[in-house]
Amino acid sequence: MILERWLLPDRMVPTFRDVTPDALREAGIRFIFSDIDNTLATYDDPEPPEDVTRWIRAMEEAGIRVIFVSNNDRGRVERFAAPLGCPAYAKARKPLVGTLRRAMTEAGAVRGDSLLLGDQLLTDCAAGRRAGMRVIIVPPIKDKTTLFFRAKRWIERPYVRKFTRNPPEGGLHGAR
Ligand SMILES: [Mg+2]
Repeated sequence: MILERWLLPDRMVPTFRDVTPDALREAGIRFIFSDIDNTLATYDDPEPPEDVTRWIRAMEEAGIRVIFVSNNDRGRVERFAAPLGCPAYAKARKPLVGTLRRAMTEAGAVRGDSLLLGDQLLTDCAAGRRAGMRVIIVPPIKDKTTLFFRAKRWIERPYVRKFTRNPPEGGLHGAR
């Protein structure tokens, strides 16, 4: 099925904290293009929680840059990113790849050293895949219970199951 190419991440991990500088460095990742909402924080956190700050500092110390690419509006994204000093792109319209590609170019990143981190297969994973980068997906921290979000989960479910049964070989190290 054609969608599988876009909807299967390289890895699924329980939280963003399970994405470690050592594993990324070993896999040649130098740039993380990260979603914000439900990946790093809930919609109720206007500013980065302490564990996010610590995680980003640890990445920076390892020479890995974190760049926010969010579908949310500029106000939310800039307020979250400002205390961290990370580049941030709002209204990215993932799964479209225009903003993600611009973020890569402006960061000096290429496909092979880039990672997309997000919580949604239909937006985050698809955008990362289309941009040719590796993808790690975490479960949403706190899901919205609107009908729209529940419908998206229902569409994603077979892909999550498929991944759980049969993860791609090599995990993050698999050459693409
Ligand atoms: Mg999200």
